[in-house]
Amino acid sequence: MSLKGLAAVITGSTSGIGLGIARRMAAAGADILLNGLGDMAEIEKTRLALQSEFGVRVFYHGADMRKPDDIRAMVQSAEKSFGKVDILVNNAGIQHVARIENFSDERWSDIIAINLSAAFFATKAALPGMQARGFGRIVNIASVHGLVASKEKSAYVAAKHGVIGLTKVTALENATNGITCNAICPGFVLTPLVQKQIDDRAAQKGISKEDSARDLLGEKQPALDFVTTEQLGDMAVYLCGDSARLMNGSAITVDGGWTAQ
Ligand code: NAD
Repeated sequence: MSLKGLAAVITGSTSGIGLGIARRMAAAGADILLNGLGDMAEIEKTRLALQSEFGVRVFYHGADMRKPDDIRAMVQSAEKSFGKVDILVNNAGIQHVARIENFSDERWSDIIAINLSAAFFATKAALPGMQARGFGRIVNIASVHGLVASKEKSAYVAAKHGVIGLTKVTALENATNGITCNAICPGFVLTPLVQKQIDDRAAQKGISKEDSARDLLGEKQPALDFVTTEQLGDMAVYLCGDSARLMNGSAITVDGGWTAQ
């Protein structure tokens, strides 16, 4: 599927799922604005590698997803560099695991800001240009935790349910504008975000990291295998293509059967 000539902003794309989506979108021909935290030398290496491997333009903006002004500046910078933003992927996210009574106030605020409010601010900033051009694709990376809950993930589950609500409203408000907005709901993907949960569980239970990973999958994901960032990248590319023109406001699971139970 070709995304040639389209420009994509992908938040949290210096690692994990966001980087997987950036690679698949660049492979399909889209210009990319990378965003996220990390070592600047590593990020520059990633930017140059994507550019030379796929022959597309790749820029980076270091907006902090907790800061609305940064988010607006990121979208403006993409509009200036590419002349437009056709695709917005709201992907940046963090996790924290603790029971509600022990959940730190600061972690709650950061998770709601990065996993939910940032998607609102980026969508708000990108929509006027999309509406003026009559074309836009917004892909929100929610989670199975936008549909069902797990213990000890109050902020994450609340934010991801919110993202699915935001997806539906964005879709309805723009249903006749040539703009679609859909949410992808992955199960467990082996990224740094999940590796930390595996490591913590291994330490807590006194088991190996391999056993901890099997334990985690066995609890929730019937396929007993991790979803890959490539599979999610392909789904995001599909949602941007013409075949998905009438998919709007959907929450699409890629979860190895998690939510079928
Ligand atoms: P990750 O930790 O590999 O990547 C997170 C990205 O977000 C990184 O690029 C990081 O730099 C960026 N980020 C974090 N805080 C930021 C901030 N304040 N400002 C800007 N960027 C920031 O994690 P991942 O697993 O790739 O997660 C990506 C998204 O996928 C998240 O929204 C997550 O909730 C969602 N998700 C992950 C899984 C999974 O199993 N890994 C499952 C379902 C949904």
